[in-house]
Amino acid sequence: MTRRGITVLGATGSVGVNTLDVLGRHTDKYRVVALTANRDHERLLAQCLEHRPDFAVLVDKGAAEKFAAAQQETNLETRLLSGVDALAEVACLPQAESVMAAIVGAAGLVPTLSAVRAGKRVLLANKESMVVAGRLFTAAMEQSGAEIIPIDSEHNAIFQCLPDNADTPLAGVRKILLTASGGPFLHTPRDRLSDVTPEAACAHPNWVMGRKISVDSATMMNKGLEIIEASWLFGLTEDRIEVVVHPQSVIHSLVDFVDGSVLAQLGNPDMRTPIAHALAWPQRFESGVDPLDLIASGRLEFLQPDEERFPCLRIAREAARAGGTAPAVLNAVNEVAVDAFLGGKLRFTAIPEVIEAVLDQADIADHYDLESVIEADRIARLMADAVVDNHLARTA
Ligand code: NAD
Ligand code: MG
Repeated sequence: MTRRGITVLGATGSVGVNTLDVLGRHTDKYRVVALTANRDHERLLAQCLEHRPDFAVLVDKGAAEKFAAAQQETNLETRLLSGVDALAEVACLPQAESVMAAIVGAAGLVPTLSAVRAGKRVLLANKESMVVAGRLFTAAMEQSGAEIIPIDSEHNAIFQCLPDNADTPLAGVRKILLTASGGPFLHTPRDRLSDVTPEAACAHPNWVMGRKISVDSATMMNKGLEIIEASWLFGLTEDRIEVVVHPQSVIHSLVDFVDGSVLAQLGNPDMRTPIAHALAWPQRFESGVDPLDLIASGRLEFLQPDEERFPCLRIAREAARAGGTAPAVLNAVNEVAVDAFLGGKLRFTAIPEVIEAVLDQADIADHYDLESVIEADRIARLMADAVVDNHLARTA
């Protein structure tokens, strides 16, 4: 049997590491073609020594020099590329039929979209790229015949629950329900939220993830981004996408049908399940995840999300309804605000304030192409920087 080639964008991150763990269990089926990272040259080299890809990419030139020096001491034949353009280059290599898109943030947009335009099977973890430019992804899929299999656990769950009929996947669907753990501050009173630390925000109760998505989970912007992601992936407007807080993270999401049936996907909270599902689809193979023990799971709870304490959910829905470049602006400002919070420059509760302030001022265009959406992202970041500085000046 010939092995399927795969490129992993963002190999050194949380999703990237989990992907390589699953791939390591199926070396008879998959061959790693390229691995990329921003600047973690040590981890990337260790991954290359284990998985022997044809190409490695480090965006950061200094990190690439260190990688190259260390590579000399090994027998590794991997070709090293550096710079941001190399990401899109390895996303389109003919020897890789599949691309795992696991870069964090809008930085993943160009390489992920390039993979879709090149007709790859794209395993999509990088939700921000879909939020920023969903319309371009939909158009590119139609043109190239690319498939997108969602990796985000909620979207992967919905993908598994939707009818297996490519022509009418939404037949009989009333709505979809995205579950949310509620994050580390689910029960934190409103007046204590302004003092929470980055460490507390990143200590997610059920999942171990990168810092950016951990903060997004704590503000619930993650669920807001996921509403927009789901609307593009499944072709539903935001009013047919509900959010249910489910603190145990055992049910990963549900589909509600017109006849009263509700289908859900369950499992232990471990990203290797959606990753293995997408890698093996339409078959199944082992992921290394323990079987779900329903008795040990005990009670499963479901709660209404609290938009008073977590306004990001409402703000994201408004951006979804506004459409055009509004989700791109939302995402860009969120990235800046989360970064400022992680750097100790912004209070947790100021994150939604900064996002709303910029969305109120920004010019939202109804239509966009790749160039104009990148420009909208750039301007939104400049505006966000100014609002953060203003906050700093007021609180100093
Ligand atoms: P992470 O921070 O752990 O890893 C990010 C990866 O992207 C790293 O390999 C890093 O080198 C690379 N990267 C960062 N900035 C880059 C840049 N400017 N250019 C090129 N590469 C860059 O993030 P993560 O938690 O693995 O999340 C990755 C994506 O998957 C995010 O979009 C996140 O929302 C999504 N996701 C993650 C999880 C999870 O469990 N971690 C679950 C669902 C969805
Ligand atoms: Mg998710």
